[in-house]
Amino acid sequence: MVASKSARERKAAVEVGPLATVKIDLGADKQFLYKITCTTCTAKGHRKWSTHRSGEDNGYLAAMDRWIFHLTEKHAGAEAPCLAYLGAAQQRLHERREQGTQPS
Ligand SMILES: [Zn+2]
Repeated sequence: MVASKSARERKAAVEVGPLATVKIDLGADKQFLYKITCTTCTAKGHRKWSTHRSGEDNGYLAAMDRWIFHLTEKHAGAEAPCLAYLGAAQQRLHERREQGTQPS
């Protein structure tokens, strides 16, 4: 498990690109907790912009989606491997919105 956590961390660190850092913690429920931090932006107060999502692959995707949107909004022109997933991230956002506005 430890090896797989650090392997995931290395893979994620490559995908987020040079503007972000990735940290994976193990939550109390033994789920992965993904934290992506922007190295240049500060949010409220003096804290850096960051996003946290828990879960295995779905947590990874959710955190990565938020980072991709942050990157395209605040760092237009920046290069990062994860931008290859921008279309997929927008598609997921669209699906979530549809689910939110249309009661089944
Ligand atoms: Zn930023």
